[in-house]
Amino acid sequence: MIRDERWEGVYSFEDSPFIMEILTELRDKNTDSIAFRKGLVKLGRYMGYELTKTMDVEEVEVETPLERTRGIVVRDRRNVVIITVLRAAIPLMEGLIKVLEHARVGIVSASRGKAPKFEIEMNYIKIPNIKPEDTVIVADPMIATGSTLIRVLKEVSKYGKPKRLIVLGVLAAPEGISRIKKEFPEVEIFVAKVDRELNEKGYILPGLGDAGDRAFGAPLKSP
Ligand code: URA
Repeated sequence: MIRDERWEGVYSFEDSPFIMEILTELRDKNTDSIAFRKGLVKLGRYMGYELTKTMDVEEVEVETPLERTRGIVVRDRRNVVIITVLRAAIPLMEGLIKVLEHARVGIVSASRGKAPKFEIEMNYIKIPNIKPEDTVIVADPMIATGSTLIRVLKEVSKYGKPKRLIVLGVLAAPEGISRIKKEFPEVEIFVAKVDRELNEKGYILPGLGDAGDRAFGAPLKSP
């Protein structure tokens, strides 16, 4: 895990060759939907595992079949809320919950309109109550303009103030991170990698394309 010195509380996993290999497969335009979804699940699992290294632990006593000894419990793992931003975060959440199996899960649908306005529509919101001891992880693979996440974070904030508020994604554009950090300085951001920039259509470069379309297929145009 590497701290990105451009911002407070922003981390990437560029130091993990395995996470970078999975990212490389996701970037490849020849990777099909099945492999793409599997890659997102894997990233959720391994990034979730890395995240546990930042969580508070508690010393406990344990009795082996032979004697008593000391062990630890990752206390914060018991108090996690994962907010899944439809649709591309579904496989990411599937991976995260393998490591964070106690998590309560919220689902929100938030989609970005077309350039240049990129207006955000939120049609479905189901978020559990958030307690002071909770670590809230908002999972969204692509942190592009940051507009979707700012809307989601505003919504999530209505349900309580957690111990930690985290955004976990695969790729981020520097523009999106700066916008989120300006509105929510306390938010911690964890991504596999911070990419170069956004193009004029709001896609991350070099990026991996539209994560939702690549995982689930491009939707037909409305009839
Ligand atoms: N959402 C995506 O799926 N891809 C991008 O590059 C930007 C936003």
